[in-house]
Amino acid sequence: MNRKGHQMSFEAVVAKARSEGRTLLSEVEAKDVLREAGVPVTKTTLATSADEAVSQAEAAGYPVVLKVVSPDISHKSDAGGVKLNLKSADDVRSAYTAIIESCQKHVPGAKIVGVAVQHMAPQGTEVIVGMTTDPQFGPVMMFGLGGIMVEVLKDVSFRLVPLEAKDARQMIGEIKGKPILDGVRGQPAADTSALEDALLKVSAFVESHPDVAELDLNPMFAYPDGAIAVDARILIRES
Ligand code: ADP
Ligand code: MG
Repeated sequence: MNRKGHQMSFEAVVAKARSEGRTLLSEVEAKDVLREAGVPVTKTTLATSADEAVSQAEAAGYPVVLKVVSPDISHKSDAGGVKLNLKSADDVRSAYTAIIESCQKHVPGAKIVGVAVQHMAPQGTEVIVGMTTDPQFGPVMMFGLGGIMVEVLKDVSFRLVPLEAKDARQMIGEIKGKPILDGVRGQPAADTSALEDALLKVSAFVESHPDVAELDLNPMFAYPDGAIAVDARILIRES
């Protein structure tokens, strides 16, 4: 959405980013274009003042999450740029200030556009859906479990774009952590068909938009019924 709440097309988002010398789309931009492509993402709006953040939090419904929006900060938590579980207007006001102060301290000179406001999604099983461009093979989809599973254990599966339904099913089936998705120790099973659908939608999106160089939904929460991405990062090619 732009400031007036109108949805921008992918082409318009890319043109705006390039005109500002950016290859990184903001979380708000990335989620807007992904939602348009049928990928489930948390509805996320851009606030440029604490007052705006409060009114957007009220529209999103408490609890909310606030995150820094800056072309110079791609790992938002590392810079103190993410505040979770905010339950009131007061929480939102103090989080807004804390985020800006912390990010200015961690990344001196960073351009801070504002703060992204979204509803806090209930905890689910964290997975990662991603796309990277291989110099030889072109766009490659990646799937894995979130957090420590991907960072430490590199438990991920890959397939070339475009994916067919069978590929998406296999990508989910072949990770070592698959029993976690099937439900362990009384945990319910995750909705793997929702994850397959997300993989297929992202594959179709990058196939039809060759300007996308990298894409990450990190994390996407998988539930017994459905799945939703709470973070989205899209890197475009230089024109
Ligand atoms: P970054 O990866 O840039 O540090 P994220 O947007 O992934 O920032 O946020 C960090 C963590 O906060 C996520 O891994 C997730 O666990 C949690 N989180 C982020 N957004 C939400 C949300 N809308 N609902 C629930 N949890 C969230
Ligand atoms: Mg993330």
